[in-house]
Amino acid sequence: MATATETKNLRTPIVCVMGHVDHGKTSLLDKIRGTTVVDKEAGAITQHIGATEVPLGTIKAMCGNMMAASVVIPGLLFIDTPGHHAFTTLRSRGGALADLAVLVVDITEGFQPQTIEAIKILRQFKTPFVVAANKIDKIQGWAPSPNSPFIKSFTGQPDYVKAAIETKTYELVGKLSDLGFSSDRYDRIRDFTRNVGIVPISAKTGEGIPDLLMVLIGLAQKFLEDSLRMTVTGPGVGTVLEVKEERGLGFTIDAIIYDGVIKVGDTIVIGGKEKPFTTKVRALLKPKPNREIRVEERFDRVSRLTAAAGVKILAPGLENAMAGSPLRVATEENKETVLKEIEGEMEKARIVTDETGIMIKADTLGSLEAIVNELRGAGIKVAMAEVGDISKKDIINAETLPEAMDRVILGFNVQILAETKEYLQASDIKVFTNDVIYRLIEDYEKWQKAQKDMADKKRFEEIVRPGKIRYLPNCTFRQSKPAVIGVHVMGGCIKPGITLIKPDGSKVGVIKQIQERNESLSIATQGKEVAISIEGPTAGRQINEGDIYYVDVPEPHSKVLEFELKDTIRQDELEVLMEFVAIKRKNNPFWGR
Ligand code: GDP
Repeated sequence: MATATETKNLRTPIVCVMGHVDHGKTSLLDKIRGTTVVDKEAGAITQHIGATEVPLGTIKAMCGNMMAASVVIPGLLFIDTPGHHAFTTLRSRGGALADLAVLVVDITEGFQPQTIEAIKILRQFKTPFVVAANKIDKIQGWAPSPNSPFIKSFTGQPDYVKAAIETKTYELVGKLSDLGFSSDRYDRIRDFTRNVGIVPISAKTGEGIPDLLMVLIGLAQKFLEDSLRMTVTGPGVGTVLEVKEERGLGFTIDAIIYDGVIKVGDTIVIGGKEKPFTTKVRALLKPKPNREIRVEERFDRVSRLTAAAGVKILAPGLENAMAGSPLRVATEENKETVLKEIEGEMEKARIVTDETGIMIKADTLGSLEAIVNELRGAGIKVAMAEVGDISKKDIINAETLPEAMDRVILGFNVQILAETKEYLQASDIKVFTNDVIYRLIEDYEKWQKAQKDMADKKRFEEIVRPGKIRYLPNCTFRQSKPAVIGVHVMGGCIKPGITLIKPDGSKVGVIKQIQERNESLSIATQGKEVAISIEGPTAGRQINEGDIYYVDVPEPHSKVLEFELKDTIRQDELEVLMEFVAIKRKNNPFWGR
C-alpha cells in the first residue's frame, strides 16, 4: 500500500489518443471533456494548454463500485491533439512523453492502416495501451444507455447484439495476435502487463468511457508507479508541443511539463532550430475556464505550475524554439551544463542516415524519426533527414543525390515554401507531401514503381532482340549492292539496321530495309514473309536460298535478355536467343555470361 506522501509525489500520467482517421479520436476526447465536466461534486476536469486533466475523484464518481479502492494515481492528463503525430512529437528524454495510449478502433471497420502504424509506434516506444473498440452504438439493435459503464449496458442487450459484439471483439483479438499482442475484452483480463485490454465504447453515447478511464488508471498503477514517482518539487522538465505567435503576446510556446515545477522568473533551456538557448520565463498562461472573455484575456496567468501540466510560456527569443524539443528549468550556476545536456539529447535524436537514398523533411524531430523508421521498415533508404519546410536549398541538396530515382523529397506535415515552388518546376526533383505517414510512403512507392516500369520499358526498347529467318527458295529479287531477298521470320523479329550471322557464326551483312508489298516496315515478327535488302553479300555466293540467319545480338544486350528479362520475353524469342547464344558459345564458352 502506498502511503499518503507517496501518493502526493505521484504525478498525473499523460495519455495520448491514437487510431485511424474517422475512428473517433476527437469524439472520444470531446466526450471525456464533456461528460467529466458535469460532475462538479467530485472535482471537475481542469483545462490545460494542449491537455485535459481528469482527476481521480471524477473517474471514481463515474465508475462507482467498479473502481478498486487502492488507487493512488491522482488522475489522467489527456493530450488534446489526437493522432500518432502528436504521440511521436511529444518526447521525453528519448522516450515517448505519453505514459499511456488509447488506440481507438471503429468496431464496425476493424483495423485500418493507421491502426497498424500506431501499434508499430507504440511497440517501438514500449508504451502500454488499451484498445477502445468505438462506435458500439452502430451495432444493429444496440439499445443505448448514455454514459453508463459498458458492462452495465452490455448486460441489458439482446442476445444477438451481445453475440455481434463478441464476434467483432474477437476479430480485434485476432488482428492484435497477428501483430504479436495477446488481448481480450478488458473484463476478462487478470494480468494487464501481459494482455492488451479491449474496451468496447461509444464516443457518441458515452457508454464504456467509465470502463476505459478505469482501465487506464489500472494500467498506470501497474506499469508506471516507478516512473510516475517524480521529483514534483524539483526543477521543471518538459517538451515543446508547439511554437505559436499569439496576437498581443508575440512568440510563445505551448509545452507539457512532465516533471518538477516551473515558475515565472525561472531560467529555462530550450532546444532551438540551430542550437539550444536559454531564456527567462516572463509569464505562465493557462486557458480561462470560461470562454466569453475578451480576446486579449484568453489566458489566466499563474506564477507556478507542477507536473504534469500543459502550459503556454511567454519568454523572449521563443521564435527560435523548435516543436518537439526538450525544455528544462535551470539555475544561473548549472545553466551551461543543462545547455550541454540538451544539446546532447538533440544530437542523439538526430537521424542516422544512409549513404544513398531519398530526402525527408518533417515538422518535428519526433515525426522525422517516426517516418524514417517506417521507411526503413519498408526497405527505403534515407540519405538526408531534416526538420523544417521544404526550401530551395533542399531542392539544391536533393539534386546532388547520385541516383535519379533517389532525387525525391518526402515532406511530412510541412509546406513547400513559395520561392521553392518556382525553382522546383525547373528541376527534376519529385516532391511528395502529406500529413499521414502511410499515405506518403504509399504515394512514393507507387511513383517508384511507375518510374522503374518506365525505365525498364525504355531499356527494353533499346535492346537488340533475337531473330531467326530463312532465305526462301526462289526469292532472290536482286543479287547485290544491296542483295534483295525474300525471307520467312521463323522466330523473334528483325529490324532495319541489325546485323545477320549464319549458324556457323560468320557474318552475313546489315539489313537496310524491310518491305512487305512495297511498304517499308520498321519490324517484322515471327510468321511474317518479307523482302529484305542486305548490305554486303552477293546472293548465290556468300548467301544462298534455304539458308538460316540469326540476328547478331550484341553481347551486353544478350546478357540483359538472358539474365534479367528472361521472364518477360516471348517463348519464340527465348528459343531463338538460346540457339543464338549456343552459336556464340561454340567458340567462346564464356560469351554473354
Ligand atoms: P477522428 O478522425 O478519429 O478524430 O474521428 P472523429 O472523432 O472526427 O469521428 C469521425 C466520425 O465518426 C464523426 O462523424 C463522429 O461523429 C463519428 N463517431 C465518432 N465516434 C462515434 C461513435 O461512438 N458512434 C457513432 N455512431 N459515431 C461516432
